[in-house]
Amino acid sequence: MNLNDRELKELFELADKIGKKRYHKLTEQDFENYKKFDYWRYINGDGECGTTQESKDWVEKHSNWYCPICGKNYSATNGKTIDHKLPRAQYPWLAMNFMNLWVICQACNKDKGEKHWYEYEHYMFVHHPELYLAVKAARPSQLLESLKD
Ligand SMILES: [Zn+2]
Repeated sequence: MNLNDRELKELFELADKIGKKRYHKLTEQDFENYKKFDYWRYINGDGECGTTQESKDWVEKHSNWYCPICGKNYSATNGKTIDHKLPRAQYPWLAMNFMNLWVICQACNKDKGEKHWYEYEHYMFVHHPELYLAVKAARPSQLLESLKD
């Protein structure tokens, strides 16, 4: 993959366009939703999978034994984490959008950090090419598409 990859280039442009436009129009409700995520996940503590029954149930329902990126058993990689595909810092209004959440292992989450999705794909292609296809398959294209309106 390189930046001439048409699909990825389009994703870059779309994400930038949507992100910038929407970010400058944040509403009170967006901030409420942003805070709601912390509440939903952390009400009684700071476990990465959350400590509320709702967040625990959600994780249970949306994961199995293996991390969708590295394919390792969660228990071998310090456990599950709830991650925002499109980072909260750049897409605060998607903090509580469940299309934007997925369950990945601690190690993969650490690697992903606050990277934007396209930076993340590029990073994985360069540093972990063997995992690139798994990341590409999880690309939130549908979510980005739905944001266009
Ligand atoms: Zn992993």
